[in-house]
Amino acid sequence: MANYVCSVGMEVHAELATKSKMFCRCQVAFGGEPNTRTCPVCLGLPGALPVPNRAAIEMVLKTALALNCKIAMNSIFHRKNYFYPDLPKGYQVSQYGEENPLGYHGYLDIPTADGGTKRIGIRRVHLEEDTGKLMHLPTGGSGVDYNRAGTPLMEIVTDFPPDISNGDEAKEYMTQLRQILIYLGVCDGKMEEGSMRCEPNISIRAFGTDELGTKTELKNLNSFRSVQMGIAFEVRRQAAVLDAGEKVLQETRGWNEQRESSFAMRLKEAENDYRYFPCPDLVPMQFTEEYIESLRANLPELPLAKFRRYTDDYGLSEYDANLLISDVKWANWFEEAVNQGGDPKSICNWMSSDFAKMLNEEGKSAADSKITPKHLVELTKLIADGTISGKIAKKVFADAYQTGKMPGDLVKESGATQITDDSAIKPIIVEVLAANPEVVERYKSGQQSVKGFLVGQIMKQSQGRANPGIVNKLLDELLQEV
Ligand code: ZN
Ligand code: MN
Repeated sequence: MANYVCSVGMEVHAELATKSKMFCRCQVAFGGEPNTRTCPVCLGLPGALPVPNRAAIEMVLKTALALNCKIAMNSIFHRKNYFYPDLPKGYQVSQYGEENPLGYHGYLDIPTADGGTKRIGIRRVHLEEDTGKLMHLPTGGSGVDYNRAGTPLMEIVTDFPPDISNGDEAKEYMTQLRQILIYLGVCDGKMEEGSMRCEPNISIRAFGTDELGTKTELKNLNSFRSVQMGIAFEVRRQAAVLDAGEKVLQETRGWNEQRESSFAMRLKEAENDYRYFPCPDLVPMQFTEEYIESLRANLPELPLAKFRRYTDDYGLSEYDANLLISDVKWANWFEEAVNQGGDPKSICNWMSSDFAKMLNEEGKSAADSKITPKHLVELTKLIADGTISGKIAKKVFADAYQTGKMPGDLVKESGATQITDDSAIKPIIVEVLAANPEVVERYKSGQQSVKGFLVGQIMKQSQGRANPGIVNKLLDELLQEV
């Protein structure tokens, strides 16, 4: 196989998490009885007039700002004309042009394997509306469901020529983008339900050449894994075609998840002519500097910035930081505990071990549980100041999880405080040594490993309350004397 370079352009559609549709008051929801959330506007009946959804416009502006875009202070909607049964009006309201989309000329930095970042240029972020859905009926015919028609849809397109050069980067781009959309609260990011969809276009060219090869577009990618595998497959397929001396066809291909291969859907010999023109039913959008700046000022901290802060300022491992930021509510819970004086590493350890395990077992989220950040702060402090041992802390945490009682109260109730007093620990050690003379003999004859057994016995005798450090120190001393 010759050496090839791959270029991947990404086109992502995200359904906006608004309550109502883009140009009417019909509810936005997933599934349901077909054609129950429709009205003359989203059915495209003659004479029905659209009214833009302010919340949707604001969501796109926020996304554009988060993706470092320029904002079109004057922006209009266009009609993209084509015929298809899932498009009742015969056109899709969208946004055309280089600097007319609400956001344009931005970028997204994605983390790279070597700990750095790679900048992926964003060409535009625009607002449009979703289509209905065609479905095959059990009776043999086809039906169309317009419940989804008119749902606010945001389209995010990467720069040309593309910066993404393989399936791994495409997957990372999607991961970062999805997290940003969820952090901004503008999309639920459910690829499996189609609320976030991506259609990469992929081309390869011989190493050392500049001209981009013929591209194919890939559809039906409904998970991060399928994005990564689909692109990798397409690169191998195109390379085999070129190696055989043939030409890559410009076509749309579908990804078959089960077979892990792509199949030809339709040829794309020329770009469709959509006859875009400004939509006469919709007035131009105009924004003031103040409005845009207030949106910018109120953007939440974004995932990658959070990740850097967790690793740099809190000293968390990349693995731990990723676990926390993957769910913004989980990250906020963590930060609340840290703000209340919790040690970041200890809080994170408890969250990703005992707490996560118990929540997973019950299928609960942190917000549904009786454990608050305050519980964990108190518990980790009791451990840090030596009041309780790590072993007892596990039991205290489990009790707090069940009852919601504060760790400090639970410790007082059970009297399970740690014993740090030499004079209280010494008698226990003496007792254990006296009960195990043959083990002591083996230790003295050089078999140091038996010490662990003795420590275990002492901890058991003290019901886990003896401070392990002091036990070790005193045991060493007493073993010298016997
Ligand atoms: Zn409607
Ligand atoms: Mn689109």
